[in-house]
Order: sequence, then structure tokens, then C-alpha cells
Amino acid sequence: MSAPTFRFDNTYARDLQGFYAPWKPAAVPSPSLLFFNQELALELGLDSKVLDGPEGAAIFAGNLVPEGAEPLAQAYAGHQFGAFSPQLGDGRALLLGEVIDQRGCRRDIMLKGSGRTPFSRGGDGKAAIGPMLREVLISEAMHALGIPTTRALAVAGTGEPVYRQQPLPGAVLTRVAASHLRVGTFEFFSARGETQRVRQLADYTIARHDPDLLGTGDQYLALLQRVAQRQAALIAQWMNVGFIHGVMNTDNVTISGETIDYGPCAFMEAYEPDAVFSSIDHGGRYAYSNQPLIARWSLARLAETLLPLIAEEDSKSAVSKAVGQATEVIDAFPKWHAAALLKGQREKLGLQGGDDGLDGALVADWLTLLHEHKVDFTLGWRRLADAAGGNETPLRSLFPHPQAADAWLTRWRSRGESEGGQAPEWSERAERMRRVNPAVIPRNHRVEEALSAASEKEDLAPFHRLLTALQHPYDESQDRAEYTEPASAEATACYRTFCGT
Ligand code: AMP
Ligand code: MG
Repeated sequence: MSAPTFRFDNTYARDLQGFYAPWKPAAVPSPSLLFFNQELALELGLDSKVLDGPEGAAIFAGNLVPEGAEPLAQAYAGHQFGAFSPQLGDGRALLLGEVIDQRGCRRDIMLKGSGRTPFSRGGDGKAAIGPMLREVLISEAMHALGIPTTRALAVAGTGEPVYRQQPLPGAVLTRVAASHLRVGTFEFFSARGETQRVRQLADYTIARHDPDLLGTGDQYLALLQRVAQRQAALIAQWMNVGFIHGVMNTDNVTISGETIDYGPCAFMEAYEPDAVFSSIDHGGRYAYSNQPLIARWSLARLAETLLPLIAEEDSKSAVSKAVGQATEVIDAFPKWHAAALLKGQREKLGLQGGDDGLDGALVADWLTLLHEHKVDFTLGWRRLADAAGGNETPLRSLFPHPQAADAWLTRWRSRGESEGGQAPEWSERAERMRRVNPAVIPRNHRVEEALSAASEKEDLAPFHRLLTALQHPYDESQDRAEYTEPASAEATACYRTFCGT
């Protein structure tokens, strides 16, 4: 008998019975492998020779359940645009199982688009090729930018249409995550008053993500703090690359601190704090600049589910003490987020530690300049690195008047000079800045171009070319120039994204 393709060790299936529905993927007529992530397969210790072929196509399309997999649909709830939905769950996804990667970390392997489940409600459980390839492009870009994210291991075509506004080619994505535990997983059991299950879930979570907290007296409060700190750092990283998630419902907020669910997300072009791309986000709840506030709001929902665990006993005074402790954590979120944001911004400016107030003002004034003159966010920062290296022309050409940023540039330079003898030379600063200010991001028009070629013409070449560029975001070679250029302002003004349903 051949060796198993995955060495599964399925703690979720084993330890959390009652938290999911065991289920099987739907069979599809004609599996084909459209994308396979060699690098990630290696990281996961998988046998690429087997998976990057017909057997892989069958597995990743859902036709062949690999040995050791125990497919299941996870239960979760969630606040969607602020309104509570007590039952969401994996309506078109199945956790196949968990593997231990080469670094010893446990990773979930999940199919998305693998057919209906007991949580599907009115949905068909399927996915179209466009949104699944979109998730590959954006999640791989995020990974290359050093931002915690779920990853894409494979996309398989199914050979059957899925019916949206029009029939589209169907596909299944294989997603890899540190776990699929969400704020919404806790809300599901909390809303049903199942405190024992919330405790079981929290214990499982701590063992999986924060094992150093095991047995410390206040582990549930500490868990809340860890999740809040991970989210504070994550959202800071989003903000510093101009990423707009688009649908930060509590079912899309992970406990691990990874970005998840690439539905209507987009990167902004010209700096605009109010930027919203999602077609259903009418009120701008998930606008770019609202993301830290919304993350904090979501963490308050998590805190509510943990209160009975944080309280030492079921008495009024113990519960009100727990509320006070949890509130302190939620109230500390803006401070943690601001610190992570400024740390990243200082690196982007090529500066070392200094006075927070002065550096905060320096960044704020830089962003005001970008906003006022509608400068491309990504290129603004990138060309600032060139300016550090002595070439200010490309930066100046981003502004309507070449002198628009002069006063600010003088301030920035003297702030750099004030670091004294220990500070790096400007040429060295420029190099460092080029390692944190990307040249290539998934620009909306390039993503759409790649997806329509794949979906409408079965041409995957633009997808693969763009993917390669996104995997090297700091590399600004001539043959990638097309991917650094912004879309026209008109194209961006009309750009709308949709949930991947
Ligand atoms: P999302 O907007 O992708 O975060 O999904 C929200 C909820 O809708 C989750 O419970 C999904 O499983 C479910 N869902 C999304 N698309 C489909 C679909 N095509 N069929 C069934 N359920 C779906
Ligand atoms: Mg979701």
C-alpha cells in the first residue's frame, strides 16, 4: 500500500464532538488541477509528486477523500454587519483534517466549494473559479507581504457550472489555516447558553494556540488578551499596506490572528481613509479607516462569550469583576493597535524608535499629503524609499505640483538626521524601506484581468504571471512594471467587489 498523502492528526474531530457535523464532499464530474502551491506543500511536508497530478485533482476537487481525513462542517454563528445570526457554519466548506507542518505547527486543511452541508441554508455549497483564484492571489500576496493569513494550497476545477447571475465554471479551493476557530465559533455556543461547551472550546483553543497559558489561574482572560493583541497587530499590518477586508463579520475574525475569508476585499489605490469597495457595505461599516474600531467591536463580542469563564463563580460580584477585567482588555486594544501601527510606519519611513508624539504627527501629515493630492498609497511610500536613496524625482511626479511635499520632506530628513551617529546612511535606509514598502500589490484592475481570462477564456497565463509578481512584492524589476502602475482614477471609482457566494 502506498504511503498516505497527508499525515492527518485530527484534534477537532476527536476532541470537539458536538461542535460540527461529519460530512462528505460532493462528487464532481471532471476534476482538473488549476493551481497547486509547491512551496506550501513542501512547508506542510506533503508529497507534491502525488498531489500535483490526477490524484491531487481528485482530492482537491472533493472526489477522493484522502486516507486519514475526517471531513466535517464546523458550527459557528456570527454578527454580520452588526446583526447576530445564531447559525452560520460551514455552508460550503469542509475541514478535511489537520497536519503538523515542518516547523511543528498544526495546520487545518479545508475544502471550500465542496458542496452543500447541513449549514448551507439556501446556498448551493459551491464556488466559482473567479472568487477561488482571487483568494489565491490575495492570500499569497498577503503572505509575501509578511501578513498573517490563511494560505491557498490548491484550486481544482470541477467541470460543472455553478449558477450565479450567469453560469460560471465551478472550482474548489483548498485552504490552509492555523485553525478555523473564529469569534463566531464562541458565539454559536454562548448564544445557546452552553457554557460548558464554551469552556471546552476555550480549553481547546488555549491548548492549540496559547499552550503557555494552560493552568495559569486567569487563562480565559489571558486568552482574550492574546486574541486582542494578535488582532491589533494584524489590523495594523492591513492598514500599512492599504488592505480593506470588506466583510469583518465576527465569523470572519480568527482566534489565531490570521486574515481569513477573501470575499469582497481590495487594496486601495489613491489614499482615501473612507475607501469602501464592497457592493453590500452601504454604510461604510467596513471602510478602511473603520477597521481598527470594528476589530475592537468584534473582540467585545468574544469577551461576552468568555465572561462566564472569566468569572470565578456564578455570583453577581464575580460576574461584575469579570466584566471590569474584560473591559480593560477591550479598552487596551486601541493602545496595542496604535503601537503596532506606529512601529510599522516608522519602518516604512526608514526611521528608528523616537518620540511617539512627534513621529505620529510626522506620519499623520504625510498621510494628509497623500490624501489631499490623491496620491497612490503604495507608490507614495515606495517612492519615498527612492527619495531616501537620493532620487526625489519619482516621488515628486506623484503630486500635482512637484513641490507639494517639500516642507514635509525637509522635516522627515531632519528627523532622520536627528538619529545621530548610530543611524544608518540614507542609502542603507532606502534599502530597508524597499523591504517594507511593496512595489507590487494585487491591484484591482490586474486581479480582474487575470480572473476574467481564467474564467471566460480558460487562460491561466495572466493569473500565473500576476501570482509570480505578487510573490515578490518588494522586487521592482522592469518586466513587472505593469503590476506597479495604478489603475485610472475612473476605474477605481467604479470598482465594486462582491462576496464570493
Ligand atoms: P462568507 O460570506 O463567505 O463569510 O459566508 C457567510 C456564510 O454563508 C457562511 O456560513 C458560509 O458557509 C455561507 N455560504 C456562503 N456561500 C455559500 C454557498 N454558496 N452555499 C452555501 N453556503 C454559503
Ligand atoms: Mg466567512
